[in-house]
Amino acid sequence: MGKFWISALAVIAIAGCKAPSNDIGSSASKAAPVTAATILKADNSGWRSYGRTYNEQRFSPLGSVNTGNVDQLGLAWSFDLNSSRGIEATPIIHDGVMYVTSTFNVVYAINARTGEQIWSYEPEIDMVQASNACCDLVNRGVAIWGENVYTATIDGRLIALDAKSGNVVWEKLTIDKSKPYTITGAPRVIKGKVIIGNGGAELGVRGYISAYDAKTGDMDWRFYTVPGNPADGFENETMAMAAKTWTGEYWAAGGGGTAWDAMAYDPELDLLYFGVGNGSPWNQSIRSPEGGDNLFLSSMVAVRPDTGEYVWHYQTTPGETWDYTATQHLILAELEIDGEPRKVIMQAPKNGFFYVIDRETGEFISAKNFVDVNWATHIDPETGRPVEVEGARYSGKTPYLQLPGPLGAHNWHPMSYSPETGLVYIPAQEAPWVYGDKQNYTQKDRMWNTGTDFGYAVIPSDKAIFRAMKAAAKGRLLAWDPVKQEAAWAHEHLAPWNGGVLSTGGNLVFQGTGDAHFAAYNAKTGDQLWKFFSQSGIVAAPVTYELDGEQYVAVASGYGGSFVLGYGGVLPSGSDFNSGRVMVFKLGADGELPAQPAETVPEFELPEKVETTPELLALGANVYANRCSMCHGDQAFASGLTPNLRYSPVTKDPAMWQEVVGDGILAENGMPKFGHAFDAQTIEAIRAHVTHEAHSDLDKQFYDEVSLPKQ
Ligand code: CA
Repeated sequence: MGKFWISALAVIAIAGCKAPSNDIGSSASKAAPVTAATILKADNSGWRSYGRTYNEQRFSPLGSVNTGNVDQLGLAWSFDLNSSRGIEATPIIHDGVMYVTSTFNVVYAINARTGEQIWSYEPEIDMVQASNACCDLVNRGVAIWGENVYTATIDGRLIALDAKSGNVVWEKLTIDKSKPYTITGAPRVIKGKVIIGNGGAELGVRGYISAYDAKTGDMDWRFYTVPGNPADGFENETMAMAAKTWTGEYWAAGGGGTAWDAMAYDPELDLLYFGVGNGSPWNQSIRSPEGGDNLFLSSMVAVRPDTGEYVWHYQTTPGETWDYTATQHLILAELEIDGEPRKVIMQAPKNGFFYVIDRETGEFISAKNFVDVNWATHIDPETGRPVEVEGARYSGKTPYLQLPGPLGAHNWHPMSYSPETGLVYIPAQEAPWVYGDKQNYTQKDRMWNTGTDFGYAVIPSDKAIFRAMKAAAKGRLLAWDPVKQEAAWAHEHLAPWNGGVLSTGGNLVFQGTGDAHFAAYNAKTGDQLWKFFSQSGIVAAPVTYELDGEQYVAVASGYGGSFVLGYGGVLPSGSDFNSGRVMVFKLGADGELPAQPAETVPEFELPEKVETTPELLALGANVYANRCSMCHGDQAFASGLTPNLRYSPVTKDPAMWQEVVGDGILAENGMPKFGHAFDAQTIEAIRAHVTHEAHSDLDKQFYDEVSLPKQ
């Protein structure tokens, strides 16, 4: 009986993720080596770096698809990524070949004209390390350079593949696997160096970004984003400087500051820019008890790409305590401000303010909130620092219902800047959260060590705060004028957590949505001009390229990420299944996606409520909120990305529950072992909570009310 359920669960855990073979059948001619000139020239036949070119504008001058004919856009081909999880990858296109990553970091090389597979590579992920991922088993794509493709894996490796064959050229472990590091970001290659950071600041790590020689894989430099223990000696003067902004034993939990996504490069100034994440733990009163700015948390940092030498920084959220990362998309542009041309770097980080910064010096130019915020009134133009609202800094105070929450006013989903309209197109959202102090906090290995109590947001006993929080959740495509610091137009979506953005010379903006549509908008007015039902939700960003005189627009579907995992019951997928696919469109095409599989609703019976004491039930609820909810949904409603605990056979079997949760018998499937953190009584208390949630019809009714309409 027990064995049957283990194998049944294993099937659930890997369903839809068939292991592809490395079937090399390419007859493609030798690819032209990629150089800095190739990336900077950015000819229209490809998309050769994550943000198209080093300025990361994600604007293509291609205009054969335009406002006049976009209604004739149709599906040219689609490619199955064998995934039922979140797909965040930007496809990279060079020499007629598209390179895209899927779940478990599988890399596919595809004929960019036809969608035929050329090769695939599967790196065989260490699922125990991968289970430290905060926000789904996602990856944002590859980089190309020379004759190689570079991919960074969720378990911390950087791998160079031969672009023609998919064979491994070299492989390096970029992390200490005794710590909960993971990688979700796409590498960039600058001056022959592959640049990559990592994540893990929810669980407790020290952030850094590293450069590896593109040919050999040897590490050239590493820049730590926060200082280590002074007793070990600082790595450089920059760390000694940063340490002056921290207090207490700040190094105990690592400090955080992971550089898990954004980078940009200015070849004229020879500056590499990257964004730095939140503190470990979030709660500053635990992390750095006497306060301080805590450099370089929540900052944009500029370094020399040859050496990693620090040049300047700008900190968006000094003394970060809300998971307000500044890892969000960085865009370089030339703007005319007060009659003067300025070289700027722009960012819309989680904290809700849009920043325009001088990228030569780091000087603050302007900032304005691009959604409603209630943690700061404004950014002081003299100091460039936020003026905080009393009460937002929640330590030792009443829990605070705050906008934005940790999902951010804007998360990793790429923006786009059109030099033709002068507008930045932001996948913006309003997703509030209740921040509350964690009483009697102790750091525990491989746990979410935020120092905040998720119970205030996830399980308030009267559900009032919870309902207010969910009711306030919104998502929109926002066109923002960075010079005037005001909205030009906005298109409201059904919910937060929508796709990244592309703008083009056809006066178009493309974006996918969580409710399973891919749409085109007039870049100047925001009018929606075309819409395609994508069957599965979209979070990834589109790209465009031209081959044989035809313009293609490509985007990957596959709904997932932190919002989807944590708010499983309100999954606005718009469809009853989630399938990762690359979809490629061109004018006059009339292809169709494969038919959706017939809806099969397995018959499940709810578990019996476990009889227990109110104290143990409350304990189970609190532990569930603080460690289970971020993967299994806030009310034990699954998003479909992880097993639905309300119906899971394991929930009905107390012995099996102990083996799965406590002993980690499914660790290699990605379900972490928690026996080191919770005793058997606590683990059973979690089960009691889940069985009670399973019978919570009030919540089910609420979810039905807020769930989005199906297509
Ligand atoms: Ca974070």
